[in-house]
Amino acid sequence: MVNAKEITEFLNEELKIYDIEDSSCNGLQVENTDEIKKIGFAVDACLESFEKAAQAGCQMLIVHHGMIWDGIKYIKGDTYNKVKFLIENNLALYASHLPLDRHETYGNNGVLAILLGLNNIKPFGYHNGKTLGFIGETDTTLDKIKQIIKENGMQNSSLDFGKQEIKKVAIVSGGGSKESYQAIAAGADLYLTGESAHYQHHLAKENKINIIFGGHYETEVFGVKALMPLLKKKFNVETEFIDVPTLI
Ligand SMILES: [Zn+2]
Repeated sequence: MVNAKEITEFLNEELKIYDIEDSSCNGLQVENTDEIKKIGFAVDACLESFEKAAQAGCQMLIVHHGMIWDGIKYIKGDTYNKVKFLIENNLALYASHLPLDRHETYGNNGVLAILLGLNNIKPFGYHNGKTLGFIGETDTTLDKIKQIIKENGMQNSSLDFGKQEIKKVAIVSGGGSKESYQAIAAGADLYLTGESAHYQHHLAKENKINIIFGGHYETEVFGVKALMPLLKKKFNVETEFIDVPTLI
C-alpha cells in the first residue's frame, strides 16, 4: 500500500527536483487521500488528461507540464474547474518540468539521445545556469535520423541547411529553439528541439546547420513514459500513458 506522499518523496529524490530553478512548482501540486493503485502519465495538466486518468481508474497523475507555475494566483475559470475535478475525483497531481528534461536516465533529452543512438553523450544547453539537454557523437546521415524521428512519433519539420553526414547532435526537447545558438557554438551538425521560432530559418541557413523541430508535445512524451516501469517496479502499481496530443 502506497500513498501520493511516498511516491512524491521517491520521485523528488530520484529526479533531483531541487537541483534546478524552474518556473514550474515541481513536486506534488495537488494531494489526495486514497492509497495509489494506478498512476496515469501525461505531458500536460489539462482537463482532458485529468478526465482520461479518472476514467482509467487512476488515483494519481504524473505530468511534465504541471498546473502551477510561479505559484498559484487565482482559483477561478479553467484553474477552478481543474482543481475542482482533481479534488472531486480524489486524483493527486505530480509535476516535474525541467528536472524531467535534464535527467540522464528518465529525462526527455536523455531518452532522446539514446533513441538517436548517440555515443559519448555529454550535458548540453544551459538554462538558468544548468544544462537541460545532451550532445553526443554519431556517424550517420540526416535521412537516417529523420527516419528514427518519424518511427518514434515525432514531427519531421526541419531546416536542412547543414550537411547530410551527421557526426554531432545536440538535443533540447520542447521549447528549446533559443538553445540553437549553443548547438551552433558546440559545432553540432544537427540540433533537435520541439518547436520553432521565425528567426530560426536564417540562423540555421547562415550557420549551415540542420535543425529538426520534432514537436513540443511529441519530444516530451519520453520522460513521463520512462517513469512508468520505474514506478511500477518500485511500488507495484498499475500504470497507463494518457495520450492527449496538442495541435502546436
Ligand atoms: Zn515543454
